[in-house]
Amino acid sequence: MPSKSYDVVVVGAGNAALCAALSALENGASVLVLECAPEDQSGGNSRFTAGAIRFAYRGVEDLREVIPDLTEDEIANTDFGTYDEDQFFDDMFRVTQYRSDPDLCEVLVRQSFATMKWMRAQGVRFVPIYGRQAFKVDGKFKFWGGLTVETVGGGPGLVEMLTNSALKAGAEIRYESRALSLITDGCGVQGVKIRHDGALEDIPAKAVVLAAGGFQANVEMRTRYLGPGWDLAKVRGTPYNTGDGIRMALEIGASTAGNWSGCHAVGWELNAPEFGDLAVGDNFQKHSYPFGLIVNARGERFVDEGADFRNYTYAKYGAEVLAQPGHFAWQIFDAKVTHLLRDEYRIRQVTKASADTLEGLAAKLEGVDGDGFLRTIKEYNGAVKTNVAFNPNVLDGRGTEGLALPKSNWANTIDEPPFEAYAITCGITFTFGGLRIDADARVQSTDYRPIPGLFAAGELVGGVFFHNYPGGAGLINGAVFGKVAGSSAADYVKSA
Ligand SMILES: Cc1cc2nc3c(=O)[nH]c(=O)nc-3n(C[C@H](O)[C@H](O)[C@H](O)COP(=O)(O)OP(=O)(O)OC[C@H]3O[C@@H](n4cnc5c(N)ncnc54)[C@H](O)[C@@H]3O)c2cc1C
Repeated sequence: MPSKSYDVVVVGAGNAALCAALSALENGASVLVLECAPEDQSGGNSRFTAGAIRFAYRGVEDLREVIPDLTEDEIANTDFGTYDEDQFFDDMFRVTQYRSDPDLCEVLVRQSFATMKWMRAQGVRFVPIYGRQAFKVDGKFKFWGGLTVETVGGGPGLVEMLTNSALKAGAEIRYESRALSLITDGCGVQGVKIRHDGALEDIPAKAVVLAAGGFQANVEMRTRYLGPGWDLAKVRGTPYNTGDGIRMALEIGASTAGNWSGCHAVGWELNAPEFGDLAVGDNFQKHSYPFGLIVNARGERFVDEGADFRNYTYAKYGAEVLAQPGHFAWQIFDAKVTHLLRDEYRIRQVTKASADTLEGLAAKLEGVDGDGFLRTIKEYNGAVKTNVAFNPNVLDGRGTEGLALPKSNWANTIDEPPFEAYAITCGITFTFGGLRIDADARVQSTDYRPIPGLFAAGELVGGVFFHNYPGGAGLINGAVFGKVAGSSAADYVKSA
């Protein structure tokens, strides 16, 4: 019996895919979602997130549209600030070194707020990220770094809310169904070949949306494109994002775009497993380094820990850790700042050393030259501008003076016991290179024309992120382009 035919088949069941499904349904298409993972592991990297999501907002009135249940108390006790479109553009171009595709960046930024309101209308609920993106100073919380909102229930909550909405709107979802290749007549796309339960099946469709993630969980592709050493990185999220969507599109003549040798990678618990663990979520990350120091096996610093808010440095510092001897580093804190450490430092699965003296700590930092470490601390302590006030909510300018490698903000001397240290390696989040799409999320061919019937969104799209990334941009990227891809696919079906 031939398989049932659909207007739109969506490959993947993460944030981008489910937004595409909802948008296609809203525009009148019948939709099948294919997910290669079992249901309890579905949702790809999106399920591993904290649900932090970046979008342009002009002030608290805009936030109220996304979080209608924001209380008067919260508003009175919080400085939410503004994060307008110009700030979002500035961040995107600054961190990508002016390489982000201007057309895609325009869609991302200008549609971010409207997409958040649309997600809310689709049943996704949001709250302010008090725990991680705001410190209380003088009795008032202040948000910093353009990242203010997270989904209720974090990544698992996001996937659950989107999945429920998609099912309610009429989508079919097939789990443990791996898309293998695109069905094509040589010009356009007419469906997807899948494997399910040990059998192959052709699923006819008028349009296909690829939203199957990057290639970070594919050690061979990672090493081929990112370079030597990347085989040794830990994967922060799902083991299922193995580049299938990219490969399938390339097989039928899709064009590639973006930073294929670049990726989002962070400082990640040294002894974390090969892939992410849903029970731990993103808590293997160690993102409070702006308040301490990071040293390598020689006991030397190798990045400016306080160069910017962590939202703008963490995604590029994983590669710096990978480049160190032995691919590891230790983060160092003293008692003055340990109360500022994020929740992820308090989990059981940490590689931690603590001591009451710096010499005692030096002896416990496995793999580190103790003399080199003590020399680094001494030089650093002598260079801190202690006359400038420390303030974790702003770029406080409390830096160092005279060091070859400065620490630009939040520099405190490391001299108050007890001392704490956490061992990290590189955890890769997602790859930056991928498929070339236009502003309507149509996948482009190597002739730079849309491949009829093929659309893409999310991690597997190239051209948006280069070198670095502003925190919270992955989810909004998937949501904005997922929504666009779904409506473009539905429009294509209507016009075909
Ligand atoms: C630990 C961690 C924390 C993060 N925190 C944040 C955060 O707070 N905020 C933020 O914005 N971003 C965050 N990110 C990045 C974010 O997760 C991604 O940018 C985003 O979720 C990507 O969405 P996506 O839909 O493109 O991919 P995914 O959510 O990964 O979805 C891809 C889907 O495709 C499926 N798939 C793959 N191959 C096939 C196939 N052949 N057939 C069928 N299905 C297939 C996968 O199983 C998966 O369901 C984080 C990532 C990680 C790993």
